[in-house]
Amino acid sequence: VLKRLLVAPGSGPQLASRDARDALGLEGKTEASERLAALQTEVGELQGRLWAEHERALLVVLQGMDASGKDGVANAVLREVNAAGSRSVPFKAPTEPELDHDFLWRVHAATPGRGELVVFNRSHYEDVVAVRVLGLRPEAVWRRRFGHIRDFERLLADEGTQVVKLFLHLSRDEQRKELQERLDDPAKRWKFRRGDLETRARWDDYAAAYEEAIAETSTEAAPWYVIPADRAWVRNLAAVEVVAETLRRLDPRYPPGEPELEGLVVE
Ligand code: AMP
Ligand code: MG
Repeated sequence: VLKRLLVAPGSGPQLASRDARDALGLEGKTEASERLAALQTEVGELQGRLWAEHERALLVVLQGMDASGKDGVANAVLREVNAAGSRSVPFKAPTEPELDHDFLWRVHAATPGRGELVVFNRSHYEDVVAVRVLGLRPEAVWRRRFGHIRDFERLLADEGTQVVKLFLHLSRDEQRKELQERLDDPAKRWKFRRGDLETRARWDDYAAAYEEAIAETSTEAAPWYVIPADRAWVRNLAAVEVVAETLRRLDPRYPPGEPELEGLVVE
């Protein structure tokens, strides 16, 4: 299944031909929640080893349209992870000091240190998607950022930070339902912004911008996965599976410990 979700380097995500409602062969919610719980335990265990090893790091980048479930996925990924070695970092529209620097400045500063698992809730991809659609910078500027992003992510990989990127693929109709739900449910209304409707009106522009950004930046060092996001239980399971598999491949090890400690008895 992961192979199907992967955007092979050199190819594009072809979002229009992917089904956002795909259940990935799962029977239903019960099966999914059992498997999710087991995977979350495994992610917690692997992250504990990553933290103890203190050599490498994992950065999970989440992107997706409004209401695609980025907050939910961040929670699902970090559910069983030790708070000491993990963080979720949201990226909002840049502040003035941030705008006074290059677009990767604030992003680089938030990357994980050795041993950490960090989830980016939005990221530098806003700088080639939102910035492009809203016309905040000229094309010559955002277009050359694809190369800067590839180089930046390769730098992170070379220096020990594995990067994995998840695009939460939501259908336009499911977004309508989710946004309506936010309006109707007092417990969710705080999440709704008027701007969400303007963004929704430009759905096709955002989709085209994502299509190209993902095609330009899915690499061996930092691959993109497209996660079907219309059903929260499929979305969370698939996302946590990608993270678990990435950690399995890293295979972090507990450090050996000092040989002098061998056989030492605490009185
Ligand atoms: P939310 O994630 O719903 O809290 O919204 C954050 C908003 O900040 C979204 O509308 C993003 O498109 C916007 N945003 C985040 N990063 C950037 C950026 N680098 N440039 C422009 N807009 C951004
Ligand atoms: Mg929002």
